[in-house]
Amino acid sequence: GEARIGLIGLGTMGAALAMNIAEKGFPIAVWNRTSSVTQDFHSNAGDLADRIVPTRTLAELVDAIAAPRTIILMVPAGQPVDEQLEALSPLLGADDLVIDAGNADFHDTTRRANSDLPFGFMGMGVSGGEEGARHGPSIMAGGTPEQWDRVAPVLTAIAANAEDGTACAARMGVEGAGHFVKMVHNGIEYADMQMIAEIYGLMRDGMTMDAAAISKVFDGWNDGPLQSYLIEISAKVTAAKDPHGDMPMVDMILDRAGQKGTGRWTAIEAQHLAAPIPVIEAAVMARNVSARLEDRRAGEDRFGAAPELCEFDPATMEQALIAGKILCYAQGFSMIAAASDKFDWSLPLPEIARIWRAGCIIRSAMLNDMADALADHPDRNLVMAPHFAELVEAALPALRQVVSQGLGAGHALPALANGLMWFDMMRTARGTANMIQAQRDFFGAHGFERTDGNPDKHGPWGA
Ligand code: NDP
Repeated sequence: GEARIGLIGLGTMGAALAMNIAEKGFPIAVWNRTSSVTQDFHSNAGDLADRIVPTRTLAELVDAIAAPRTIILMVPAGQPVDEQLEALSPLLGADDLVIDAGNADFHDTTRRANSDLPFGFMGMGVSGGEEGARHGPSIMAGGTPEQWDRVAPVLTAIAANAEDGTACAARMGVEGAGHFVKMVHNGIEYADMQMIAEIYGLMRDGMTMDAAAISKVFDGWNDGPLQSYLIEISAKVTAAKDPHGDMPMVDMILDRAGQKGTGRWTAIEAQHLAAPIPVIEAAVMARNVSARLEDRRAGEDRFGAAPELCEFDPATMEQALIAGKILCYAQGFSMIAAASDKFDWSLPLPEIARIWRAGCIIRSAMLNDMADALADHPDRNLVMAPHFAELVEAALPALRQVVSQGLGAGHALPALANGLMWFDMMRTARGTANMIQAQRDFFGAHGFERTDGNPDKHGPWGA
């Protein structure tokens, strides 16, 4: 075969990725479970059809690719991936490589990487949705350095380019490292979105601003330190009119949010790692509460709704969001560092910030500075990096004002409040766990350490 690479699964993501690969000059062989999809894909590929080899069986697919072969899998996570790996087993050899580019649970990727498949296997997180897949995603690859070297020319060619021209594709580490980092990316995405939604809520309910006025505020922020894809689309979303009437579109959308589960996975995994990520956990919680619309209606009937008015100037809210964002990313990166230790992955924190700068949903101006800060500051707590320490110090009074006045007026601000709470705990050398230890020793003789170094481990609570 002549194709440089193969791809299985021409759904939304697979088709977009295959077009991207062909466009960058790599001949690609494709196969899809439903053959008519493969034919339609090829017929609609326009100028790129010459570089695409449609195949009807997996054996044909394998034959169409130049050895040693690389095949990208883009099918739903879980069972379909295992099925395809099994179907490929008799067709591929030890020199061949299969890349699972779907949204796999990283535990599955680790299991597959360590299983006795007769070919090489790597997992890869791809962020940026269909648009990213077609024109340049952010790529978080798992796998060995040798595997990465082999596929890097294709992956860096199809990835998004950051403003400095570097490709947003990198090797994260072996086993499930790529899918792990993609998972945390999605958790951060939940949190970024939730914090923006909380500020939106203050403007809508606390300050009775209409959607058009809110849009102007977001639009203004997109020229400053908060410049990001999510702020940009928040400005667009609040500016849009309902095509079925005169109302702002956003006012016609039910406040019940869905999730595909990757944010939840992040929260669950954080608990396994004992990594504090309260902003992300709060964002997952907020989606779960949003789903309970009937409960919220009953609550409003029983307890009365309306949070009270409260007034903030846009600059204060902007600073609050800046602080919240830094605290959220600090938590996300420290969770990545915790996984790096636990799984022995040597995850490259600065590189992770670097490849999130373009192609993915959380792309933002601030990630540039985060990449630099994480490179210069080995302690891995972003808040302690000098540049971000200064930013947090400057923005914190605004966050504290927005959270305390907002909560005081009855507005729910779970993500922002949890960011502040984490910060206050993190900068407190003498916390309150001495009380926890005293209680634990009292009821369970668990023992404690004394502040004065005296080795006595127990308190005088005996009978
Ligand atoms: P789609 O539903 O659009 O496409 C699924 C594809 O997988 C189809 O080609 C389908 O073939 C094939 N397929 C389904 N089940 C099987 C099976 N048992 N065996 C073989 N092939 C099968 O999904 P997406 O393209 O949206 O998603 C693919 C992966 O990418 C998922 O893991 C998803 O989580 C991930 N992802 C999606 C993003 C998005 O924005 N959509 C973003 C990032 C990752 P057939 O035509 O025969 O049904």
